[in-house]
Amino acid sequence: MEAIDKPPPPYPGYLDRMFSAVARDVARAEPLRSEHDGAPADLRHAVTAAVERLAGDLVALSHDIHEHPELGFAEHRSVRTVADLLARHGRDAEVGAYGLDTALRATAGAGRPRVAVLAEYDALPGIGHACGHNVICATAVGAFLALAEAAGDLGGSVELIGTPAEEGGGGKELIAQAGGFDEVDAVVMLHPAGFEVAAHPWIGVRTVDVTYTGLSAHASAMPFLGRNALDAAVDAYTGMAQLRQHMLPTDRVHGIITDGGQKPNIVPERAALTFYLRSAEPETLSVLADRAREIFEAAAAMTGTSVEIGWDPTPVYLPVRNNAPLTARWAENVAARGRRALAEGVVPGALTGSTDLGNVSVRVPSIHPTLAVAPPGVTIHNPDFAEHAASAEADKGVVDGAIGLALTAADYLADAALRDAVAADFQAAGGRLDVAALLS
Ligand SMILES: [Zn+2]
Ligand SMILES: [Zn+2]
Repeated sequence: MEAIDKPPPPYPGYLDRMFSAVARDVARAEPLRSEHDGAPADLRHAVTAAVERLAGDLVALSHDIHEHPELGFAEHRSVRTVADLLARHGRDAEVGAYGLDTALRATAGAGRPRVAVLAEYDALPGIGHACGHNVICATAVGAFLALAEAAGDLGGSVELIGTPAEEGGGGKELIAQAGGFDEVDAVVMLHPAGFEVAAHPWIGVRTVDVTYTGLSAHASAMPFLGRNALDAAVDAYTGMAQLRQHMLPTDRVHGIITDGGQKPNIVPERAALTFYLRSAEPETLSVLADRAREIFEAAAAMTGTSVEIGWDPTPVYLPVRNNAPLTARWAENVAARGRRALAEGVVPGALTGSTDLGNVSVRVPSIHPTLAVAPPGVTIHNPDFAEHAASAEADKGVVDGAIGLALTAADYLADAALRDAVAADFQAAGGRLDVAALLS
């Protein structure tokens, strides 16, 4: 068999320059400040001390989840481990909440305002906890247990919601559809990363499966009897590639051909593609989807085939709407732990992905800061990140992150002026979106 050499690696200078520019901007960045006082000092001390007492259990939980990676909707052991730890601290949890086997719900305190702390615990196929959801889980559990101890003094209530299948399954959208966020006033969670960013532009993503059906025929003897479904798929792929030049700079499209026929001498009767479409706003995501649909239909018209367009076999992930006043409280709270959480825009927005927290954030004011547990060049979903997610740095992050989340939630519960500012910011950003109507 003939082989050609591997292509040379892409020019590395661009990435090097980008990371040195980021390092320079990070060094110059002003710390993010809050205009609000948050919870009183005695409560802050009590909540911080409660997390510190839990530190051993939280780090052990992080490692336990890390060592037993489970895929989305199959996180049976992980969710059980969380429930067992809660039980050891006298807190009941419902496993299988919201009609999802691996979702969890626990509450402390009573009534409104109510803050939910979200835990993820799913892993990636083949590379385990390379997204560091073990750290998300341990910080959320720590924040909940600390807040539960202080609930009587804080007023209102706090919930821990274990959200399955962030990696593609959209557990948070399913929980939202089951009413899980209807009685929640604010949501806090974090994500480990290579950067410490208070608010990052996580973009939305839709999945579309496109299937073309043509007519099969002998490709040499009677091609005129055939209609080539693979030609339609190639036209669709090319059309999307041509769209790429003229879409918004924050949009992303990427696709593969999942079925390209059976044999060269048979005109393919069936061909199929899957595309991801990503955009920075719910509205621009809709526009991108409309343009893609026109391309898929045009490819069918060009080739005399029929097309089936299957949108969102798994839930859409909407862009994250970061709540500014709550994000500023987070930044102040982790600053006290020696962490400088950067304002949006310091780290390039192009270094981004998607999360189903987006779907929550357009229903309830939310934060989704990142916690640095790895060097800036190590991104999530890189196999190396899995090692960083169980490192000494990550263990320190578990404690700092749990304190940051707990204090931010305590600030919200204890400071009425902050709650007003959070609500005003949420309304100014478009208020509660009707997600079902948006995607219909
Ligand atoms: Zn991930
Ligand atoms: Zn993740």
